[in-house]
Amino acid sequence: MVIMPTAFLLFSEGLDSLLSGLILKEQKVNIIAVKFITPFFGWKYKEDPTSFYKKIEELNFDKGILIDITEEYIKILKNPQYGYGDYANPCIDCKILMLRKAKELMAELKADFIATGEVLGQRPMSQNKNTLALIEEKAGLKGLLLRPLSAKLLSPTEPELKKLVDREKLLDIRGRKRNIQLELIKKFQIKEIPTPSGGCLLTDPQIGKRILTIVKEKRPLNYLTSQLLILGRHFLEEKIWILLGRNQEENEKIKKIVNKVYKTYTLNVPAPTAVVIEGNPPEEYIKKLLIKYSKKAKLRISKGERVDLVSLS
Ligand code: SF4
Repeated sequence: MVIMPTAFLLFSEGLDSLLSGLILKEQKVNIIAVKFITPFFGWKYKEDPTSFYKKIEELNFDKGILIDITEEYIKILKNPQYGYGDYANPCIDCKILMLRKAKELMAELKADFIATGEVLGQRPMSQNKNTLALIEEKAGLKGLLLRPLSAKLLSPTEPELKKLVDREKLLDIRGRKRNIQLELIKKFQIKEIPTPSGGCLLTDPQIGKRILTIVKEKRPLNYLTSQLLILGRHFLEEKIWILLGRNQEENEKIKKIVNKVYKTYTLNVPAPTAVVIEGNPPEEYIKKLLIKYSKKAKLRISKGERVDLVSLS
């Protein structure tokens, strides 16, 4: 019986990691797709992991694994050794962390090597030749990290030298142009074309700016607040941090996340949910904020009627 090699694929769900997996699968490599999740990427699977496993099955990959790395991620988000990208995305530290985690699992899952969707020169900071080499070294994966989309432009890796994969069938994509990826989309008949980045919220200008402010001002950034950061309107004053939901769906989500850990309020008319994440602001201040974002409250007040603050915690 021929034993097929196994690759541990860092699967962001972006187009490039998807194509890398399909290229290896075409060479009869078993694919274990690992998706690392934090509130900034892949978080929907925290509530609904089955949709991830369904996707893995549809792609004909051999196994899917979800791993929540929020706690460790927050540490690099606060102080990335290699800095941030355009917004709050610490891409180099992020990749090193994910690859280290993947390496820890290699023996357990009997994987022969690790594969990513990285493309040489696609991102000037995190995907130039030196950075790719640095990431490989810092992750402790010298020779074991295969980048199928740019492999022919890089030194041969162990799986290529051992003929576990055919280097000739790997690619030589360089830069930001995506014409080869578009051809591959047709070849593999991909119907839903994913975004290149896999939808990382740290690259979102608004959320990224907010996160950088929280980090710079040394506000509480932890498992809970990192989930709250990506929702609602945030009011940051000296030693005060209040969050207001923007709609019913957000209000419900916020209540569920906070789960009475922080003081939570609303009004006795339809109004946002307010959470005091930091500080001890006067109730009158919270009430004023809530009134500002509640049409019903403003209407009542205009009629000379009373509006009261309601504690939810
Ligand atoms: S875009 Fe986000 S998930 Fe991707 S490497 Fe950068 S920080 Fe990590």
